Amino acid sequence: MTYTNSPLASYVALSPNHSGERNHKIDTITIHCVVGQLTVEALGNIFLPEARKASSNYGVGVDGRIGMYVEEKNRSWCSSSPENDHRAVTIEVASDATHPYAVNDVAFAAMLDLITDICRRNHIKALLWEGDPTLIGQVERQNMTVHRWFSTKECPGEYLYNRHGEIAAEVTRRLQADNI
Ligand SMILES: [Zn+2]
Repeated sequence: MTYTNSPLASYVALSPNHSGERNHKIDTITIHCVVGQLTVEALGNIFLPEARKASSNYGVGVDGRIGMYVEEKNRSWCSSSPENDHRAVTIEVASDATHPYAVNDVAFAAMLDLITDICRRNHIKALLWEGDPTLIGQVERQNMTVHRWFSTKECPGEYLYNRHGEIAAEVTRRLQADNI
């Protein structure tokens, strides 16, 4: 398996908090909310100490810039599920610190661009969402997962959770436009 990284990441601060190489090909996207309107630098600083024991593959900052903290080839420590994080690219998106953990328009747009790029490079033909945790791992029906399915967290927050259908539809529209 050959892995690449997103050319959209303009900031790289590799975290020591990962498990080394994935044991599964990338076939899933997991979007998280940062719970803070942070820059990519501030998010990178959170993931830098080993004691934090947390990371994500990418982060989208409050200004729409994209940071990379764990290369795509490696399994991040993000979703409270080793199985999920072995197959998912994990993305933290700057959000408000309180319910519904809203994301601003520029960060949302950058997130769509990043997910589209991840899908293109990893040959994911469509982004699929049914909001059904019983479909975890059935990627031909649903290839997005959410942190709240694996722990008691609210992540990704209502703002992003309620837009998962919209995100899936828009990314799929872009992927299918590639083939027209
Ligand atoms: Zn999360």
